[in-house]
Amino acid sequence: MKKNKIVRCPYCGSPAYLRSADGIYKNNRAGAKLYVCSKYPACDSYVRVIPGTKIPAGSLANKALRALRIEAHRYFDLLFQTGIMNRNEAYEWLACMLQMPLSQAHIGYLGEYYCNRVIEETKRLLENRQILNERWREHQYQKIAAGGGL
Ligand SMILES: [Zn+2]
Repeated sequence: MKKNKIVRCPYCGSPAYLRSADGIYKNNRAGAKLYVCSKYPACDSYVRVIPGTKIPAGSLANKALRALRIEAHRYFDLLFQTGIMNRNEAYEWLACMLQMPLSQAHIGYLGEYYCNRVIEETKRLLENRQILNERWREHQYQKIAAGGGL
């Protein structure tokens, strides 16, 4: 990334400025910093930075998109929290689905369409896994039943 690259608000085109999240986050004890649209609060658009850097952790988002990204991230995290895949595999899966390089495959860059895709695809994988688990259990019961029938 270029050093003094201007971060712009994708909603109104105004420049966004790096500032503390005080007064935006209800609780900013962690001292988070954000890129906030210069028209804030009329334009409710911001993004946090990667802690300890000035690098935005994604693109600026309004309230609806911020909520959707949080939801998409919760689903996405289930992929490795439930052990369907490990964390690296989950990001590879995301990059593949988005047809993006792995370095750009982050929920923080996703718009509404792709957030919804992540939620749907994750749900589908979780459901498939559940079906597989049930089949496996059934198979085990049948084996036990067959063994016990002697
Ligand atoms: Zn704006």
